[in-house]
Parts: sequence; structure tokens; C-alpha cells
Amino acid sequence: MNCYIYWDENTKDGVIIDPGVYEDFEKNEILNYIKANGINIKLILNTHGHIDHIMGNDWAKKTFDVPLLMHKDDMPLFDKAMDQGAMFGVSFPEPPNPDKFIDESDEIKFAGTTFKILHTPGHSPGSVCFVDEKEKVIFGGDVVFKGSIGRTDLWLGDMGVLLNSIKNKVLRYDDDYIIYPGHMEETTIGEERENNPFLNGEYDKFA
Ligand SMILES: [Zn+2]
Repeated sequence: MNCYIYWDENTKDGVIIDPGVYEDFEKNEILNYIKANGINIKLILNTHGHIDHIMGNDWAKKTFDVPLLMHKDDMPLFDKAMDQGAMFGVSFPEPPNPDKFIDESDEIKFAGTTFKILHTPGHSPGSVCFVDEKEKVIFGGDVVFKGSIGRTDLWLGDMGVLLNSIKNKVLRYDDDYIIYPGHMEETTIGEERENNPFLNGEYDKFA
């Protein structure tokens, strides 16, 4: 999965999004990048509560000692993190509880950046996207991928809810917004609006 560090080159303040690290080399790679660039991590943000995205929360909390934010509707997934791990055959330190819940009425501010929050359930009930409208950047978690969308066969997933979230919330942004997803490479709103079979009408013909 993709862990993102989003930071300001002037103030050096930044956030870490989905620290889904497991192996030591992954932790070291992130730490080395942060140290090499002199970044001050101010917040840990989770796009949602699936284990591949939260299994490094314990490490991140201990390493950076800053607040961890996520949407409260994924607490059922947080509470069952160890069960999720067992299902996929991985074990990791129990994730610490979030310090603060976030929802659409909140804004996250750091280093002159403001993240708007979209609550985009469907892949999981508490999935959110973080949007920097100034830079036209969306950190989308597992909601929209290049040519695909998040899986909905996992616990509490819902295909209809996910498609509504994408169409009503994510796609209202302009075509030149870049999406940084939780897996695979980046894309843009315009590319997905046109070519993503779940969003351009292709899927509706068979649904
Ligand atoms: Zn997920």
C-alpha cells in the first residue's frame, strides 16, 4: 500500500498519511526520507481502518508522538484490528486508539495547508479523502484507483454506497485534480471520469 508524507518545503512541517509499515526496512525508508529532508511530522492521518493502512500506527505514534486522526465510523475495524490481521495471516502491535475523530465539518491545518475532509464510505464505513484545494491534490485511500475502485467484499463494505460516495463527492472536483490512492499509481479526476469503467457508465450497463 502507499504511505504518503505531505509536507511544506518552506516550513518543513508535514503529515504522514497511512503509515502502513510492517518490515523494518519500510520504517527505515520513511524515517530516512523524513530526516534527510528535515521534516517535522505534525499529524498522523488514516484514510480508513483496514490493517494494511493502520498496522504501522503504533510505530508512528511512538516515533513521532503526534496526534492520530481518523473517522469514527471505522472504529469497528480498529477494534477488530487483530482479527483482521489473523484473517490475512499477519501479526503486528495493537494499533493505539485515535486521538481525535474527524468528519466533513472539520478542516485539518498544518504548514499553511488546509485539508478538506470528504466522508466517502463504501470500501469501509469510515473511509475519508483528504483534499488540498489549493494544490488540487486528493489523498483518496481505497476509494478510487486508476481504472478501478475499492473492493467492497470486506466486512462492512457496500458497493452502492461506494459508487455514491465517488460520484457525489470525489467527482465533483475538477478534472485536473491529482488523486493519490492507497494502492497503485496516481491518477487524475479527469482520467477516471473518462476511463474508469465504474465511473464512465460502462459498469452501469451490466449492474
Ligand atoms: Zn482498505
